[in-house]
Amino acid sequence: MATAGCYFTSIGLAHGQLMGSFDFGPLQTVHLCVFLDAGVTESRARQLLSSWDSEVQRYGLAVEPVSFRALARSGYFHGPIIREVQAQMLAPDCDRNLYFVGRTAADFLWGDLAAVALPLPEVLGEVDDATLSSGFVVATAISPNQLLLSPYDVTRHELYHLLGCRQHYDMPACYAQIAALKRRRRELETHGFFRRIGEPPFYPTWENLSDTMLVSRGAVNRILAALK
Ligand SMILES: [Zn+2]
Repeated sequence: MATAGCYFTSIGLAHGQLMGSFDFGPLQTVHLCVFLDAGVTESRARQLLSSWDSEVQRYGLAVEPVSFRALARSGYFHGPIIREVQAQMLAPDCDRNLYFVGRTAADFLWGDLAAVALPLPEVLGEVDDATLSSGFVVATAISPNQLLLSPYDVTRHELYHLLGCRQHYDMPACYAQIAALKRRRRELETHGFFRRIGEPPFYPTWENLSDTMLVSRGAVNRILAALK
């Protein structure tokens, strides 16, 4: 399974004029299940999530954490960490899972090496490609890279992915993707889809970075389970 990771602090520049041509519709709220590594507090997570506040009006899309749970970290590198988040499955009250990762001296050593010696950039956050529903952010600023990429900025960046932006540096595509997910959710709700399948309304997501939408937690969880 390939996950790209994120090496950039912003998805792209806002594109005001073009943005005006998108109909984002009425406000919707995306519910987050938040997982906390050792040393990352709920209030730190809330502070980082407030990085989305500036975007709420823009898209009519709010983010609300509904639970905070401790999750011990199984690895130091982004591969094991993203797999750990994917293994959580989406709970019935959540649209997305987001894991705030702390740092240790060992990580710092790796981060420091990555910054000065290795050709690999350091991954400060990532969202899974298979379902774009589960991601992590390094919440503690220790490494020199984070002087440029603060955890606050990285959180906003990963939220963009979680809310539907599949690529970097293509804001017109990003607007269209968010608008499409919101529209689909509205249609599904209007037609009683969620009542029929017995799930609370779900903010859809993209399958495998394609144009195919996953419209229920069940569909997302089947994919996540198959990755275990
Ligand atoms: Zn990214």
